[in-house]
Amino acid sequence: MSDLRELYQEMILEHARRPRNLHAQDAPGGLKAAGFNALCGDRIDVYVKLAGDVVEEVSFEGSGCAISTASASMMTQALCGKTVAEAEALFRRFHRLVTGESQNDSGTVDLGKLAVFAGVCEFPARVKCASLAWHTLVAALHAQDGIVSTEEGNET
Ligand code: ZN
Repeated sequence: MSDLRELYQEMILEHARRPRNLHAQDAPGGLKAAGFNALCGDRIDVYVKLAGDVVEEVSFEGSGCAISTASASMMTQALCGKTVAEAEALFRRFHRLVTGESQNDSGTVDLGKLAVFAGVCEFPARVKCASLAWHTLVAALHAQDGIVSTEEGNET
């Protein structure tokens, strides 16, 4: 198990060092939201381009700790080609994973590489870091153009 954990940490550090899809988007009709995690100081802007109901492109800008950056980077890769409903289902699944509530999940949603964040549930202070990009994504999908703070709102 410790080998697996090391592998996971390596993947997170690799994404933190070389984040994917780290750029703004200014396409007409694009969606955007900003997120802020006061607990750690992570800031992120998430940009979403939809083609009908399908996520065509997700990108982000921001500055934050390794966990928040890696989570955002891997999120942008995971969402490409998903429908909005699938993206939201993935967010709920991911959120249960990092909060440690997914022990009994039957696994209807495949997290793929996002499963590397399973270890985060052992570090409650890091849960907000890992989920910030996702909360911001959902805000963007709902076109709530404003600041999302993980310090407020419902953490369900
Ligand atoms: Zn952080």
